[in-house]
Amino acid sequence: MSEKTAHCPDCGATYEPYDGDTHAYLGASPECWAAFNTVLAREFEDIGYFSVHRLTVDAYTVQHPGDQTDRRAAQSVNIHLTSLYLILEEDRSLSYAAKSLGVLANAFKDKFKPLAPPDPDAYKYTVKDICAAADAAEHQRIVRLWAEDVFQAWTPHHGTAKAYAQLREQQ
Ligand SMILES: [Zn+2]
Repeated sequence: MSEKTAHCPDCGATYEPYDGDTHAYLGASPECWAAFNTVLAREFEDIGYFSVHRLTVDAYTVQHPGDQTDRRAAQSVNIHLTSLYLILEEDRSLSYAAKSLGVLANAFKDKFKPLAPPDPDAYKYTVKDICAAADAAEHQRIVRLWAEDVFQAWTPHHGTAKAYAQLREQQ
């Protein structure tokens, strides 16, 4: 009750305590979920912010793997990590990566394996840094850094992402 700081269990960000909703299977605290929704609202209002929407969703989702024994959580991390791989490693377009999410989810439903997440200390950026961006250009720049940071922290699973990227080609 007297706690002044709330920690997000998955990304490690600290917030002022807020009693709100959270996501069904992403491992976000209510405070962190609210911060993410603030960022999404900004992206939906302004095309300059929206231009990196794919990276925003992928970075946030991979950074909040939740309980990986939940089939939905395992699928979510696998496909969003693959999306980051396609964009950051293969230089694919954001729209190609976006389409890949649905293709992979349909093709490999129930086959995704849980992925062990990194320690939250591994992250240099969280959605809190995105909230602090002063304008669309800064938003785009920091979202890119955030996505690269999250992708690096998940290095042990890059092979899995690469395998799904190749399987996606065959669909
Ligand atoms: Zn968080």
